[in-house]
Amino acid sequence: ALTTQYADAAKVADHAIEVCVDWLAAGIDPDKATVFLQSQVPQHAELHLALSMLTPLGWLERVPSYKEQLAQLRHLDLTTYGFLGYPLLQTADILLYKATLVPVGADQVSHIELAREIARRFNSLYGKGQEFIHAIDKLYQILGKRERQGLEAAILAYNQHGNATPGKKWLSAMQATLDAQQVATAQQLIQQKGRAILSEPNATILPEMAKVPGLDGQKMSKSYNNSIMLRDDPDRIAKSIKAMPTDPQRVRLHYPGTPEKCPVWQLHLIYSDTAVREEIHAACTGATSGCVACKLRVSEAVISVSNTFAERARQYQDKAQIEQLLTQGAEKARDTAAATMCEVKAAMGLIA
Ligand code: SF4
Repeated sequence: ALTTQYADAAKVADHAIEVCVDWLAAGIDPDKATVFLQSQVPQHAELHLALSMLTPLGWLERVPSYKEQLAQLRHLDLTTYGFLGYPLLQTADILLYKATLVPVGADQVSHIELAREIARRFNSLYGKGQEFIHAIDKLYQILGKRERQGLEAAILAYNQHGNATPGKKWLSAMQATLDAQQVATAQQLIQQKGRAILSEPNATILPEMAKVPGLDGQKMSKSYNNSIMLRDDPDRIAKSIKAMPTDPQRVRLHYPGTPEKCPVWQLHLIYSDTAVREEIHAACTGATSGCVACKLRVSEAVISVSNTFAERARQYQDKAQIEQLLTQGAEKARDTAAATMCEVKAAMGLIA
């Protein structure tokens, strides 16, 4: 919440409650899922700090959504660490619970890949135990600075990217200093995997259908001011859809359109049944019906879903009830989070 809206923090607490109501309205069952606020589980910040020590800046800078959002949100000053480090905080959110499957849209897959790389780097650095450290120390006493760096790079490359043993150049550098037995030990050490203190998560990619486009056809985001909120007022939904851009070629009713080039069609794909979609597609490509009628049909479908959410949300009108649910969720989450932090601190040699 604060990565982009840090200057307007007064609204964050209310928004957090609203988002929670949205989730419950969408059907998340708090008896089955642990629903909690990140700010009530301090271990998120703790693991984020620990991971920030070992995360190369370049890994964060190359995350595709970083550059994309910087370009989209030019009106905000996002030259902050919080914004750059946001995928790292997400990584901490995931690794803290040793999550194995994380449901994400296709645009978030790179964030899960980052989480995997960081888990591997952590396990490689801290998960190998004393025996490994002694063996490496012994080699380090013999090797020169350049060879030591070469060995370290090879160990990291293998653990992070699964790269096989380095090539001839590396081997001849080692052979110049080490005997055959020591070279074999170095090769073994490179391929020794770290104990999995932090689990590598996998992404469960949600179907493409789950990606709802924004009112302007771009990615939907509250920060981009192009969203339909889950429990929006029906009039606002109708008004917003009425103002949506359409296929730019279809400037007149008798011009045939291409639904695939139109963001309104994307909403039909999600909200309308097959019969309506076929009818709309034919009417658009055959220029037998206009955009106003097309938008009206999809508005009705969106409003019908939104009414279902609003109906469910009615049982969560009491703010105190939501706060209590979040407090209970945080207590439960803290148990797991604290256990992971104990392991992380022990592995890093920190005094708990
Ligand atoms: Fe888009 Fe519908 Fe108009 Fe076709 S008829 S251009 S799908 S709004």
